[in-house]
Amino acid sequence: HANEIGRTVRTTCAYCGVGCGVLATPEGNGLVKISGDPNHPANYGRLCSKGSALGETLGLEERVLHPMIGGARADWENALDLVASRFTAAIEEHGPDSVAFYLSGQLLTEDYYVANKLMKGFIGSANIDTNSRLCMASSVAGHKRAFGSDTVPGTYEDLEKADLVVLTGSNLAWCHPVIFQRIAAAKAERPEMSIVVIDPRRTATCEIADMHLAIRADGDVALFSGLLNALAENGAIDCDYIGQHTEGFVDAMRESRSMRLRHVSERTGLGPEEIRAFYELFKRNKKVVTVYSQGVNQSASGTDKVNAIINCHLATGRIGRPGMGPFSVTGQPNAMGGREVGGLSNMLAAHMELGNAEDRARVKSFWNAPRIAEKSGFKAVELFEAAADGKIKALWIAGTNPVVSMPDADAVKRALEACPFVVVSDVIAETDTTPFADVLLPAAAWGEKNGTVTNSERRISRQRPFLPLPGEARPDWTIFADVARRMGFAGFDYRSASEVFDEHARLSGVENDGARDFDIGGLAGLSEAEYDLMAPVQWPLPAGRVARETRFFAKGGFYHGDRRARFVAVKPPKPEETADFTLNTGRVRDHWHTMTRTGLSARLSAHIAEPFAEIHPADAERLGIAAADLVEVASPQGSAVVRALITDRQRPGNVFVAMHWTSRYAPSARIGAVAHSATDRASGQPALKSTAATVKRF
Ligand code: SF4
Repeated sequence: HANEIGRTVRTTCAYCGVGCGVLATPEGNGLVKISGDPNHPANYGRLCSKGSALGETLGLEERVLHPMIGGARADWENALDLVASRFTAAIEEHGPDSVAFYLSGQLLTEDYYVANKLMKGFIGSANIDTNSRLCMASSVAGHKRAFGSDTVPGTYEDLEKADLVVLTGSNLAWCHPVIFQRIAAAKAERPEMSIVVIDPRRTATCEIADMHLAIRADGDVALFSGLLNALAENGAIDCDYIGQHTEGFVDAMRESRSMRLRHVSERTGLGPEEIRAFYELFKRNKKVVTVYSQGVNQSASGTDKVNAIINCHLATGRIGRPGMGPFSVTGQPNAMGGREVGGLSNMLAAHMELGNAEDRARVKSFWNAPRIAEKSGFKAVELFEAAADGKIKALWIAGTNPVVSMPDADAVKRALEACPFVVVSDVIAETDTTPFADVLLPAAAWGEKNGTVTNSERRISRQRPFLPLPGEARPDWTIFADVARRMGFAGFDYRSASEVFDEHARLSGVENDGARDFDIGGLAGLSEAEYDLMAPVQWPLPAGRVARETRFFAKGGFYHGDRRARFVAVKPPKPEETADFTLNTGRVRDHWHTMTRTGLSARLSAHIAEPFAEIHPADAERLGIAAADLVEVASPQGSAVVRALITDRQRPGNVFVAMHWTSRYAPSARIGAVAHSATDRASGQPALKSTAATVKRF
């Protein structure tokens, strides 16, 4: 029915991890009317500025519409044959670990599933990573350490039911606007609800906050360790919950005990009174949700931050009950779906473990695969380093623009130059990454694709097509399946996205019986028509289960072997005092990632027209920088030139530069080239919030 004028299609927004339901109605002449789906449980009809402008971003002017080989138009047969033969040759000559895929949280679950199956089960390597590594890998690692599984315990409804919402490292107002709107509406109805924002910057999210803690970069472990200590000292812990459902409390306390108010103040840069006031709020309110996002995850201590937060919720039994729990909100529309299919280099599939021989055997047998990856592959930063070192002979980048988004982005350029064969499948012809492609493949875009995404509250929603495929564009899963068949592999003869989803759902239920959190066996066996009509649904959804739990862990039931959670003893990192400035990167309200879509909308581009550096007035004065001067932000990795935005919303000694602007829109503003490539040891997530940098007038 694609492009049937006047026919409204229910789909899901292309952008953030809120996963809002969208109604799209083609009106002819390339126009599409967009509105919020009033029946979708993520947004109940709401949309933010980006979602509302989706109809303005559907033009074909910038699209890649035909396969290209060496910059010249080619046909699909030749392009696919070339990709298959070059990957096969590299594997034969240098082994399976000489090839890699770098994917995206923008891909649909079906795309991710096929790519992961090809790499881990048939090529036999785990060199498949994704830009989701930049988004929430620390949350995954923290969840697994604490719960034994990558489980988000709660739901969006909990944010409305809570008496205290703590937002740490999350500018929800700009990055997850519809969740922000839901919390704001709940607070308007119940003004006694408290909101605390913990962020080095006074962001737009602070507009609804009762308290803003302008924390020093990476002070979170100290703040939440101190909170655990304060809760214990004030008798505010739940000894029954700790005793029945957890391990490791004593060790975690031993580490936290040193985090007295004075120490927390030193590490966080916050005053003792404001720390005490926050601890008191947390102690007093039983219904607490702690929301965290990239300010927590994108850090060298990201996984420890996640566990420091979870420790406080476990210690108080505030998890898995209405209005309570730690809550990771993901940046991308399908970071969660990618995790579910195992599309990261240290995961297997369906929340099974690469390091577990039984899991490997189960997946290998289910796929009828000739081999199975046995060890973790390269994580994003390592992957491009390996390419630069000549270890990767063939690399396929799908749906992402690492020459802008990766830290040390000029090193990524050099890695792509060094790699003998680079495939890029994307919707946009000219990104900073596509010039490095030996083969450029035209992928289907939002509005043309068919499949599913999973949002931050574990809700699987359909993305449905309402436009025809333009030119020769194809859905990503078909491209991966076509290459797999050409490489001589059986098991890739899917006729539709629905068949891929069915296989994914069946795999999740194999020998599960409650052993693993991710189970959508109840969605296996859907007919094409049922898949087409599938309503948004939260997992778990095992086969045959009638009553569905929407939350995890209120009564324990964790996924470590003994079904108990783990406290993690975390040590706060020492504050870095040597840096001239601490560079923090992030989003603005109306742009998405590297602007390939939002840059097409004049309305969205009008919100903030230029890249900028937020600098505190005292720093500006010290450096002789006036408002709107051009400034150079530099590090040993590289430099970027942007306009100074002098504001006391910023902490002294910190500079914030938005991540979006690319060579296409502002040639000198690619801030990824300045960011360092340090990563969290446990998760491999880049520490994008704390690059040591200098700032000077340009
Ligand atoms: Fe789209 Fe996120 Fe905005 Fe919802 S909140 S409309 S998912 S960008």
